[in-house]
Amino acid sequence: MTREHDRDFDALTDVPIFDRFNLPIGSPVRPQQLGLDDSVQFNCHKGISCFNECCMNIDFTLTPYDIVRLSRRLALTTTQFITLFTHPYDLDAHGMPGLKMKPVEESTACQFVTREGCSVYEHRPTACRYYALGIMGMRRKGESMLEDGYFIVKEPHCKGHDEPRELTVREYRREQKVEHYDDLNREWLDIIVKKRSAGPTVGRPSDRSFQLFYLASYDLDGFRQFTQTESFGAMFELTAKERTALDEDDEALLRFAMKFLKQVLFGEKTLPLKNGAAHVRYEQRKDIIARRHEQNIEAYRLRDPSEDDESQ
Ligand code: SF4
Ligand code: SF4
Repeated sequence: MTREHDRDFDALTDVPIFDRFNLPIGSPVRPQQLGLDDSVQFNCHKGISCFNECCMNIDFTLTPYDIVRLSRRLALTTTQFITLFTHPYDLDAHGMPGLKMKPVEESTACQFVTREGCSVYEHRPTACRYYALGIMGMRRKGESMLEDGYFIVKEPHCKGHDEPRELTVREYRREQKVEHYDDLNREWLDIIVKKRSAGPTVGRPSDRSFQLFYLASYDLDGFRQFTQTESFGAMFELTAKERTALDEDDEALLRFAMKFLKQVLFGEKTLPLKNGAAHVRYEQRKDIIARRHEQNIEAYRLRDPSEDDESQ
């Protein structure tokens, strides 16, 4: 295994997405960082002595695309899937909502593990595909775009590290078919990192922001209904082709949902608005906006400065 030079990177952006791997959140300790062409020794197969061990004690975050894939595999709506197979947790100190896979009741085992292995293997979540690799967002000094950094995760129960097979991170990612997942999850990760980087000084986002984040990130069927409402139609400029894609194509809807979030959470101009729509919307909401602004200023004034570091 070779070590990639990491001097050019800012501090680790510890997105808690792959917390199954016990990422050292808030820790100054950096795991050994790997690049795409670094090689790792690892193999996992049905005949291995630890087969299924990694599915017996689960604790990992689901990404938006994980939820779409699993709910379609199980012929459920995203709302039904969330109810049956996930439990909520906070992605950050402000209570940004996250979802983890819910294990079997009174156990820590995954609901999808069987004697023969994973019953949803073709649709297994991102964290399961990456294991025993971890991934984290890294930001190169002076640049705004995130880069992926990889690291190996060695847990005592996993015997895959003793198997005599070497392959590069790039080959491993291809083998596990994570590239498409990463492509669809990238904007979501970017939103979380942006939110975390903003820190506590901009105040706690409104409950409405969190509701929209939840809807657009996880409950895609609910978000689809939201895009079909009159008020949504009055706000955003969509061609007939785009409208059809949002109604029929989950991946198109997910990509749109991320642009929508960047617009409503950070004010980025990611989606074209109808002429005059922003003004009408502002007029409707200006009292709420002014009240929230006052609340944020007051919360900042009363904050305990010692908490600033903890919530980064
Ligand atoms: S989804 Fe499949 S691979 Fe992932 S923990 Fe569950 S059984 Fe294991
Ligand atoms: S080798 Fe590791 S990843 Fe594969 S089944 Fe065993 S514990 Fe799980």
